Amino acid sequence: IELLTTPADAAEVRIEEQIRPARMEDFTGQQRLTDNLKVFISAARMREEALDHVLLSGPPGLGKTTLAHIIAAEMGSSIRATSGPLLDKAGNLAGLLTGLKRGDVLFIDEIHRMPPAVEEYLYSAMEDFRIDIMIDSGPSARAVQLKIEPFTLVGATTRSGLLTSPLRARFGINSRFDYYSPDLLEGIVMRASGILSIGIDQDAASEIAGRSRGTPRIANRLLRRARDFAQVEKAAVISRRIAMKTLECLDIDEEGLDDMDKKIMDTIVNRFSGGPVGVASLAVSVGEEQDTIEEVYEPYLIQAGYLSRTPRGRVATRQALLRFSDGSVSRHTG
Ligand code: ATP
Repeated sequence: IELLTTPADAAEVRIEEQIRPARMEDFTGQQRLTDNLKVFISAARMREEALDHVLLSGPPGLGKTTLAHIIAAEMGSSIRATSGPLLDKAGNLAGLLTGLKRGDVLFIDEIHRMPPAVEEYLYSAMEDFRIDIMIDSGPSARAVQLKIEPFTLVGATTRSGLLTSPLRARFGINSRFDYYSPDLLEGIVMRASGILSIGIDQDAASEIAGRSRGTPRIANRLLRRARDFAQVEKAAVISRRIAMKTLECLDIDEEGLDDMDKKIMDTIVNRFSGGPVGVASLAVSVGEEQDTIEEVYEPYLIQAGYLSRTPRGRVATRQALLRFSDGSVSRHTG
């Protein structure tokens, strides 16, 4: 199967909304990050101020959108959500900003994909709660200054490295998401199965959790696929056997690696003799978008200990050579 870390379709978006934790106490994991946020939120509430702007970064499906909604809920304010690529005109951004009430949250997903011309308007909005808009053009052009209510910008990005420094500097709170441990994911799977009324044995949940690449969205998706297998077998509960069968049919191995992960590692190890290989050549070789490789596959392969990023390109680790080598290349592993 394709490893989809973005919601696959409208139905999945609806399910995600249904099982998305709504308050901080239901949000598992990312302990340090949420502990800090709780303090900043309480302090802002005591001062009756808008929370400082928050940047959330990390691989897809770890809960950035979820946390943005929770921040708004904990602040007792409303949230308006958009994404970088949707903000193609300064006017769209101005419209959103002027519609905000005091203390509201503006959530911009994929904030690194915002066009530079639009991004510049955001600077004064974030800093001084005003925007300078040019209206008309030619001789009648004039700058109009619009005041906006103090608000909190929550930006999410899978690629914090691509953020410009002026934008990054304007976020007072900068939080990085980590992959979740299998224990935490097991809890997330159990919780989601409760909400969706799916019966599942603990050892089945544990099996799914261990192969979800540290990602709640993937864990929840595997849970739903296991439910399908249980349903056609007319089983009331997802047993460990059904979970294993599901994972096997989806070609997901013990570490949660899927076809594309294996293809990437096979390419680096066997076609490029372990690397270094540039990400552009890698993308062409495996037939996947460069962005997807960098945002989705690489971070997990790096954390699993198979890949490292060097200035000269991607290099397979010793562990990767041991596991993925098909013996076709003899190599010098200095
Ligand atoms: P993207 O950047 O692709 O939107 P994301 O990081 O914003 O991804 P979310 O949409 O917030 O991810 O989360 C995906 C799903 O995972 C949600 O449906 C939510 O139910 C679940 N989830 C995420 N984080 C947690 C968590 N800490 N506890 C329980 N469930 C979680």
